[in-house]
Amino acid sequence: MEAENSKGHFIETIIKEDVENNKNDGQVVTRFPPEPNGYLHIGHAKSICLNFKMAQKFNGRCNLRFDDSNPAKEKQVYIDSIESAVKWLGFEYGTPFYASDYFDRLYEFAVELIQKGKAYVCSLSADQTREYRGTLTEPGKNSPYRDRSVEENQDLFTRMKNGEFDEGEHILRAKIDMSSPNMNLRDPILYRVKKASHPRTGDKWCIYPMYDFTHCLSDSLEGVTHSLCSLEFEDHRPLYDWTLDELDTPCHPQQIEFARMNINYTVLSKRKLQRLVEKDHVQGWDDPRLPTLEGMRRRGYTSESIKKFCDIIGVSKKDSRIDMGLLESCLRDDLNEKAPRVMAVLKPLKVTIINYPDDLTEELMAKNHPQKEEMGTRSITFSKEIWVEQDDFMEDPPKKFFRLGPGREVRLRYAYLVTCTDVIKDEDGTVIELICTYDPETKGGNAPDGRKVKGTIHWVNANDCIDTKVKLYDRLFKDENPEKDKRDLVENLNPDSLQLLENCKLEKCRGELEAEHVVQFERLGYFCLDAKESTKGAPVINRTVTLRDAWAKLAKKNNPPRKNKQPKRKKRPQQK
Ligand code: ATP
Ligand code: MG
Repeated sequence: MEAENSKGHFIETIIKEDVENNKNDGQVVTRFPPEPNGYLHIGHAKSICLNFKMAQKFNGRCNLRFDDSNPAKEKQVYIDSIESAVKWLGFEYGTPFYASDYFDRLYEFAVELIQKGKAYVCSLSADQTREYRGTLTEPGKNSPYRDRSVEENQDLFTRMKNGEFDEGEHILRAKIDMSSPNMNLRDPILYRVKKASHPRTGDKWCIYPMYDFTHCLSDSLEGVTHSLCSLEFEDHRPLYDWTLDELDTPCHPQQIEFARMNINYTVLSKRKLQRLVEKDHVQGWDDPRLPTLEGMRRRGYTSESIKKFCDIIGVSKKDSRIDMGLLESCLRDDLNEKAPRVMAVLKPLKVTIINYPDDLTEELMAKNHPQKEEMGTRSITFSKEIWVEQDDFMEDPPKKFFRLGPGREVRLRYAYLVTCTDVIKDEDGTVIELICTYDPETKGGNAPDGRKVKGTIHWVNANDCIDTKVKLYDRLFKDENPEKDKRDLVENLNPDSLQLLENCKLEKCRGELEAEHVVQFERLGYFCLDAKESTKGAPVINRTVTLRDAWAKLAKKNNPPRKNKQPKRKKRPQQK
C-alpha cells in the first residue's frame, strides 16, 4: 500500500514528467471508460478518482466514455446509474461520450486496415478458430482464409455490414502473428456479426467492433493522452499499440496499468455480483450489503469517505487485498464529524419511573454533537414511561457493569439519575419491565451532593417516539477471501449478513428522517433512512456502520498477541 504523498504515485510521476517534457503539448487528457453492462462498484471508484484527479492536478480533462460496443449486454438503466454515481462522487465530466458514436469512424478504420493488407475476413467456425489459435505453450496455425485478396476482403466485409451473413459465418481479424507468445496478437477478432439492436444506434449496425479495437481508437479520437487501466490489460497493450501504429489516427495515447482494488470479505467484479443478484442471494443491485456504489450510497456511505479511502490505499502495480476495516474506519471518521446525534433504542425494555408525576411531560435540551457547538441543540421529551436498551440491564450484573441492575443507579442521558427498584417478569421468567425511581434534584444528569454515578445510558420517551424497523448489516461473506480454496462464492456467504429488528424506538425530534442523511444513534452506531423500503408512517432504517470495529476485536481474540515476544530486531531498510 502506498499512501498518496507529496510526490504522488507512479502514474502521477509519469504524467508529471510528460508535462515537464512538453509531451502532447503539455496536455493531459484521461477518461473513465465503463461498459454499461452493470452497476459500478467501489473498485470502479478507484479508477474514477485516479482518472479525474490526474486530470484535475494537471489542468487537463477527464472524459466519461461509455464503452458500449456489445449491444447484447448493455442497457440504459446502467448508463443512468453510472452517470449518477460519477456525479455523486463529485466529479464533473460535461457531456458523456459513447464508443457507439464512433461506429462510422471505426468502420472506416477497419476498411483502412483491409486496404493495407492488415486485416482479413475469416470464415472458420468458432470452434475451428479456437483450435487454430493454439495454446499458451503451442503456437497457432494460420487460418486458410488469411491470404484472401484485399478485394475479396473488402467485398465480404461490406456484405457483413449489409447483413448478408448470419452470426458466426464470418469475422474480421487483424493479420498479426499466429505464433506470437502473446495470444492477443494471434490474429485477434476486430469485428463480428451481431444481429442485435443497439440502445443508441438502433438497427443501423449488424456488425460490432470488439473491445480491443474500439478502445484504443476511441481513446485516440478523443485526444486521450494517458489511458489508465487495470493490470489485466497489460497483455493487451501490444495490440493497443499495434492498432494505433498501423492506422492513421489523431494521436497515440499511452496505456498505463495499475492494480485493481480488492477488499476482503467481498467481491469486486460485476460478473460475480450479478450472480449474487440474479440468484437472489441479495435483494437487488442496490442491496446495502453489496460493494456497489448504489448499495453503499443507500446504506449511508458518504462519497467523501470513499474518496478518502481511495486516497489512502493509493495506486500501485502490485495486487493486494485491502482490509474492509480500513474502508469502515474512513467512513466512521467522516460520519463522526458530520452526523448529528439522536437517541434510539433497538431492543426496547420498558421502564416505569414510579415517583415521576403521571401526566407530566418535560422538555430537555440535548446537544446535536458533543464537540460541535455550531451543530446546535434540540429539545427532547421525558415522561413517566421510557424505553431503554435490553442490553443495558442485567438481573445479576458483575461489578463492572455500569448500567442498570436491581438497586443500581445510572444516568439517563440529558435527563435524570434513576435507580432500579424492581423488575416485572412474564410467566417464562423473562424481564419485561423495570420499575425505577428518579431523583428530581438531578435534572441534566448531575447529583447536587456530588455522588458518583459512572454509567450513562440512552433512552427514548415511550409516550413520544417513532416506531421503526432497523436493518443491521454485517459482512456479506464469512471468509476474508470469498473464493478461498477455489470454492464457490455462494458457499462462503455469511448467513447472518442481514438482521431485521422489527420493534425499535426512535426519539421524535427533528421531523422527517431522510435517505442518505446519516445520524448517530448514541452508543449504537450510524444509521440512515432506507427510502426504498420505508412507507409513510413506517420508516425502515439502515445501520450504516457500527461505532467500533467488532471484527478487529474478533481477529484479536482469534490471534492473541504472542506472549514471549522476541526482542525486537532492527528493521532492515525497505527496498524501494
Ligand atoms: P468488472 O470486472 O467488475 O466487470 P470491468 O473491468 O469489466 O469490471 P469496466 O466497466 O470495463 O468493468 O470498467 C471500467 C474501468 O474501471 C476500467 O478501466 C477498469 O479497469 C476499471 N476497474 C474495474 N474494476 C476495478 C477495480 N476493482 N479496481 C480498479 N479499477 C477497476
Ligand atoms: Mg471490463
